Amino acid sequence: MSDTTLLPNTIQSVNPYNSKVLQKYEMDAHERVESKLQGAHEAFQQWKEKPIKERTRLLQNLSHSLEHHMEYLSELMTQEMGKPITQSRAEIQKCIFLCDFYATNAEDFLADDIIETDASESFISYDPLGVILAVMPWNYPFWQVFRFAVPTLTAGNTALLKHASNVSGCAFAIQKLFLDAGYPSACFQTLLTDHEMVDYLIKNDKVKAVSLTGSETAGRHIAKVAGESLKKAVLELGGNNACIVLDDADLDTHLDTMVNARMQNTGQSCIAAKRFIVTKGIFDEFLGKFTKRVKDLQFGDPMNPATEIATLAREDLANDLEKQVQDAVQKGAKVILGGKRDKAYYAPTILTKVTTDMAVFKEETFGPVAPIFKVNDFEEAISLATDTKFGLGTMVFTEDIDKVRKTISRIPDGALFINELVKSDPRLPFGGTKASGFGRELSKEGILEFVNKKTVYVK
Ligand code: NAP
Repeated sequence: MSDTTLLPNTIQSVNPYNSKVLQKYEMDAHERVESKLQGAHEAFQQWKEKPIKERTRLLQNLSHSLEHHMEYLSELMTQEMGKPITQSRAEIQKCIFLCDFYATNAEDFLADDIIETDASESFISYDPLGVILAVMPWNYPFWQVFRFAVPTLTAGNTALLKHASNVSGCAFAIQKLFLDAGYPSACFQTLLTDHEMVDYLIKNDKVKAVSLTGSETAGRHIAKVAGESLKKAVLELGGNNACIVLDDADLDTHLDTMVNARMQNTGQSCIAAKRFIVTKGIFDEFLGKFTKRVKDLQFGDPMNPATEIATLAREDLANDLEKQVQDAVQKGAKVILGGKRDKAYYAPTILTKVTTDMAVFKEETFGPVAPIFKVNDFEEAISLATDTKFGLGTMVFTEDIDKVRKTISRIPDGALFINELVKSDPRLPFGGTKASGFGRELSKEGILEFVNKKTVYVK
């Protein structure tokens, strides 16, 4: 069972499915953090000089190592944060794809960019910055770290990771993967540390930039500390994506995608469909089919490959979700399905009669809750979809793609997906606008976030 008598400076990993303590960890003392920082700083001096071909060769090793340890890593992830095992395997598979993508493309992305001017030669050179601090969340404990670390290290930087405090096992497993792949020992290091130490590190001269994936609250804090230190920050924060379903949507083809858009990872995804906005002509059919499919989702032991929906990663998260649903019900929402909690489990929930003053509309819901709105037409759908402080992505399901194409400039988000759920892909840039943060990960854009884009001019 979870241990309420934790010693100071200790954190633990608890299996949210059965509340068993998996492991306790002593947090790094200040001197240890200093020594890891010094190590990362020194490693950078050597690492930045390595030819790009050597860095991409190590990516191939990393990819093989992930493949080789797939089962162990997937089980570790499932035990620490409760993700169904098939989804953990898919996450490791995606990390392999990422390594392979940058192993093939990084050399091109980082090559000097020649620009014709009146100089005899002028170009942009992409130089690494130094030690980059990463502060990461638990919801995709491997993917989030890999999509930061792989391009950042390949560009010649070194990295320090402060992972979420409930997934320290994953954090150490990732450190070991880099070591086993042949990266110099201080190139990628895990720190077990608290929020105050994150501030200290951001302010330290040896740390050149910070990347946070996490909540808006954490984002506002880290942006402030980084801003005061004039340090570059990439912020990947929360989202409140709308999933617009228009009258002519092909439900037979896309229903599973729509369900997945909300329920995958038990709803704990920044880019999940958090508000369904459905036009009136298809509303009843959508609600009926969607409800049936969600009702059929199999809950159970996340280690069982048949399990589709699991507990949330911690009981306090289920508690927060319960409060948001209660707020909606008090304000008049109708519970079509679910609406119940049992410790860390929150039953997949569908709400109708939702209004814009409810927390489930205004805030991010980080769990399997689908508020569904009925609207008259596409215009009304767009105006509701964009009525949010967040800006990660919007999805639209329709057979009239040209109609949506005409509205691209009216969607102020980082992504617009048509007939597909918003998802990350190593080949495409990923990131948000407004309170969802700034900067981009993945693709060429991502590898150029933590480099000095230096202009070189030869007369
Ligand atoms: P969180 O509470 O903000 O924590 C994320 C990380 O930030 C953890 O390592 C946490 O450390 C650390 N942290 C929190 N407050 C901090 C502070 N004041 N100073 C320094 N570090 C701080 O978020 P979460 O609950 O783990 O993750 C869910 C959130 O992440 C959601 O909002 C989700 O939408 C967002 N997310 C965004 C993306 C994206 O790409 N846009 C992707 C995935 C998740 P501790 O664990 O020690 O508190």
